[in-house]
Amino acid sequence: MKKCIFFVLSICSLIFLFPAVGQAAGGKTVFIAAGHQRKGISSQESYAPGSSGKKAKLTSGCEGVKTHIPEYKTNLAIAKAARKELEKRGYKVIMLRTGNSCPLSNKQRTRKANRSGADIHICIHCDDAGSRSSGPHICLPASSKYVGKKIYKRSCRLGSLILMATAKSTGKRSSGIIRSNYYTTINWAKIPTFILECGYLSNPREDRQLNSKSYQKKLARGIANGVDKYFK
Ligand SMILES: [Zn+2]
Repeated sequence: MKKCIFFVLSICSLIFLFPAVGQAAGGKTVFIAAGHQRKGISSQESYAPGSSGKKAKLTSGCEGVKTHIPEYKTNLAIAKAARKELEKRGYKVIMLRTGNSCPLSNKQRTRKANRSGADIHICIHCDDAGSRSSGPHICLPASSKYVGKKIYKRSCRLGSLILMATAKSTGKRSSGIIRSNYYTTINWAKIPTFILECGYLSNPREDRQLNSKSYQKKLARGIANGVDKYFK
């Protein structure tokens, strides 16, 4: 009996002392997809359910104008930093890939996220658009046409929260929101998703930042802050 009381008290004190971990994350699971891999896949696939339109299965991504580091490596480094920060806050994280070989098409990647049991799906990319562009931006579906109303609304909310939070954590101005019904990754989604373009590898200064551990940590904090807000 004494042992029992001691056990109950110990559990209570543990809950009292460490309430933050489990509660902050509320048992939520985040699927993180680092965009691209070592090679593109040029054969085609349907870019949306019920559409006859086709797109390349996987593009090869861009490259740092200064560092010459390929985007798939930068995306993975940012994804790993985000995993670390989210796990620290008590989330469960499932990674699409932890190495640079992941020969799955965009549709297969999204299907993997859909079936993973995760609550949300974050796609990590970096963009390429001239030397003066800077700051994070996001890609969202243009309408609920392929994903349905619920996923459309939740994806927009999730993306907007993470965009605001990453702009704040990196001290950059957000470069906005692109809306299109042409993203294979988004169109096949059954859980809220969006594409986070962390910055521009075509901007020499931002290329160096995106490939530095300290800036990757800032991005990771922003991503996790946005996720916290989404689940609040
Ligand atoms: Zn990309």
